[in-house]
Amino acid sequence: MSDEIKELKKKLLSTKKNGYDCVDEGYETAMNAYCEGYKAFLDAGKTERLCALEAIRMAEGAGYRPYVRGMEVKSGDKLYVSNRGKGVMLAHIGEKSLAEGAQIAAAHIDSPRLDLKPNPLYEEAEMAFFKTHYYGGIRKYQWVAMPMELHGVVAMKDGSTVTVNIGGEMGDPKLVITDLLPHLGAEQSKKPLASAIPGETLNLLLGSRPIGDEEDSGRVKLAVMKLLYEKYGITEDDFNSAELEAVPAQNACDIGLDRSMIGAYGHDDRVCAYASLKALLDLPKTPAKTAVCILADKEEIGSDGVTGMQSAAFDTFMEDLCDAQGVALRVCYEKSFCLSADVTAAYDPDFAEVYEKRNSAFVNYGIGLCKYTGARGKSGASDADAETVAYIRSLFDEANVIWQIAELGKVDAGGGGTVAMYMANRNITTLDAGVPVLSMHAPFETVSKLDCYETYKGVKAVYQAKT
Ligand code: MN
Ligand code: MN
Repeated sequence: MSDEIKELKKKLLSTKKNGYDCVDEGYETAMNAYCEGYKAFLDAGKTERLCALEAIRMAEGAGYRPYVRGMEVKSGDKLYVSNRGKGVMLAHIGEKSLAEGAQIAAAHIDSPRLDLKPNPLYEEAEMAFFKTHYYGGIRKYQWVAMPMELHGVVAMKDGSTVTVNIGGEMGDPKLVITDLLPHLGAEQSKKPLASAIPGETLNLLLGSRPIGDEEDSGRVKLAVMKLLYEKYGITEDDFNSAELEAVPAQNACDIGLDRSMIGAYGHDDRVCAYASLKALLDLPKTPAKTAVCILADKEEIGSDGVTGMQSAAFDTFMEDLCDAQGVALRVCYEKSFCLSADVTAAYDPDFAEVYEKRNSAFVNYGIGLCKYTGARGKSGASDADAETVAYIRSLFDEANVIWQIAELGKVDAGGGGTVAMYMANRNITTLDAGVPVLSMHAPFETVSKLDCYETYKGVKAVYQAKT
């Protein structure tokens, strides 16, 4: 190649490369330290409630305190509000007034899982089971024949709440959903994946040992209920006012001989939630603009509901802070920027047919920007404007963040959504960005450590932006 062509190529063509070709010595130590913290965060927060608790524990450790309406709000203050124990909103009040806008990162801490139905307990063939109703977009065939644990709360009529944890501690018994043996699976194997495992067969096996005498009926169910009563003081009717979630009984671990990746349940979207939270807590000094982190619930079922991103809880939090500074909320919003921090699909060579290679996110190529998400011609996308993408390009390059820009998959292959449009609908300039994930929404998802760390660096750059 002539020097002239080399020069031209360098000057005119994109030079995106593998992140490992861009980092220097010392990088790996910082990246690994960050990822060890992330793995511990995942293990502590397998449900939105547990994740919110862990986030608050970390925030308080970093000097954040609960915000109470009417409190003074001044530069340097570190405040948070828990949204019903299932979401958290945090703010590090900046040097500038909220009239100059806030720098926001919004991630979600709910993940696909199996919720117990309101009347879950039954006995069949002298085994006891829980009926479940899946939450979020799952591929049902992936959730059978693997150990599960159960977390959540039972709210009692007297106003007290019982915390349930079955299988979460070392040595605990686990639960399981059984699957059909291949010997008898001839007919089932002919069915499409989506219908091979009907939702009503996702029943958790709870026990098999009867109590009482052989002439008694329902003895296994009764035995299980007795154990639950002894441990938690609950009766069958108390399930009516419970939120119990079955999640994979598997802790986060390194993946690959080179330990370059992390496998875990719930990377979507705790990988961006952790990045958004940790970047906020790690800010070395008071940011120029107020830095806001929101960890929302209910994204996987459309962001509706009182703890979802469409809830006025976020507006109330922001309005309270604005009121304390004598600023109108709409003035703050129109000057604000939001990074909708959510995962994207990583290019998977085993399923190359659903990706468009020139516009896919690749493992180890850094945080993935998505100008738009959506499906069927960008439906359900906020579709950030060119100026917004330029703003982030410039911000990330300045902060040496390794980034890429991609779509979720081929135009006609499907699609997905995030909280971006709900932020943008508030008149907040918003862009999607996050970690590329392999096997997204599976009980065990995989991400690259480098991409996790670059997402943290990216969010931090957003918080620290001067304009
Ligand atoms: Mn997500
Ligand atoms: Mn998701």
